[in-house]
Amino acid sequence: MKIAVLPGDGIGPEIVAQAVKVLKALASDGLKIEMEEAPIGGAGYDAAGDPLPEATLALSKASDAVLLGAVGGLKYDALPRDKRPERGLLRIRKEMNLFANLRPALLYPELASASTLRPEVVAGLDIMIVRELTGDVYFGQPRGIEVRNGERVGFNTMLYAESEVQRVAHVAFGIAMKRGKKLCSVEKANVLECSELWKEVVIEVAKEYPDVALSHMYVDNAAMQLVRNPKQFDVIVTGNIFGDILSDEASMLTGSIGMLASASLDANNKGLYEPIHGSAPDIAGKNIANPLATILSVAMMMRYTLNQESAAQRIEAAVKSVLAQGLRTADIYTEGTKKVSCSEMGDAVLAAL
Ligand code: NAD
Repeated sequence: MKIAVLPGDGIGPEIVAQAVKVLKALASDGLKIEMEEAPIGGAGYDAAGDPLPEATLALSKASDAVLLGAVGGLKYDALPRDKRPERGLLRIRKEMNLFANLRPALLYPELASASTLRPEVVAGLDIMIVRELTGDVYFGQPRGIEVRNGERVGFNTMLYAESEVQRVAHVAFGIAMKRGKKLCSVEKANVLECSELWKEVVIEVAKEYPDVALSHMYVDNAAMQLVRNPKQFDVIVTGNIFGDILSDEASMLTGSIGMLASASLDANNKGLYEPIHGSAPDIAGKNIANPLATILSVAMMMRYTLNQESAAQRIEAAVKSVLAQGLRTADIYTEGTKKVSCSEMGDAVLAAL
């Protein structure tokens, strides 16, 4: 199993180093893993004048999975748009045809007080949002700003082809099968034709998954239900723009950005795995960042791309164990727990593993 390791910028190298320790430990236990590192984002620009150097893209395409830290930094903000670090990230997702974005929102009971919601509403929360990533109003044509009847109008096109809905629905049903066998499809079919088609196609695909209980919800209601009673959900599947908003809402339920992993998959379950947070320039180089989101991204990689469920569970159990021991990085620290550095947290996960 070949893994491309792309640390990126800011805290990226620090947190990825901890995840690499975990991968090496799994390798020494017999998992056949090969890793190769390459620059992306600002580091790509520094090394090759391009936020996604050709060699990095080639390595990523030739690998089974990609582990990414984060990209971005103040020193790159003045670059032309196509040279900015974030462009590297958008391009690698597009070049690798990663159309399904998996965003778990998981709250460990030990961290329930970090949420702005009452602990009983969120403790033990474990939902997965599957967001379509390459279609919808973000990419639909026509789009633009033009003058009509003497004033400017801005317009975008919300558009989904059947095949786009089918493939992301299959991913979502597949994940529901591996979890609680409940899938909620979120759209706005009472108003939008695009959503009407989405719903019809999801219902057709559901016939292939008789074991999964499918439900449907309008996006406005879903936004409300996520804060009212988030534990009613197991897996949510939705389009690009609704997923963009709902997945951010769901991540805030957990209150700790340093804990949340994500995956973006192609049609063959090849994927890019990364924490949901950015490069955190405010704390970069201080060895205080929380590496757990990146380590949990490796668990997702084991589960969804490399089919190593037991390795995934071992990593997740190790993370649970360090939290139960009371170890916390600064971002999740509360009185009565023990503050540790980024590398100490990595070492603790290794020991628990
Ligand atoms: P950010 O996620 O980097 O940081 C937001 C806040 O959360 C900061 O206070 C930061 O210190 C904290 N934080 C984030 N990750 C943490 C961790 N692992 N441990 C402890 N604290 C953590 O978002 P931002 O400040 O809006 O953006 C900073 C840079 O990151 C920008 O250049 C932005 O474009 C980029 N960015 C990249 C990605 C990505 O690579 N996927 C995502 C979002 C933002």
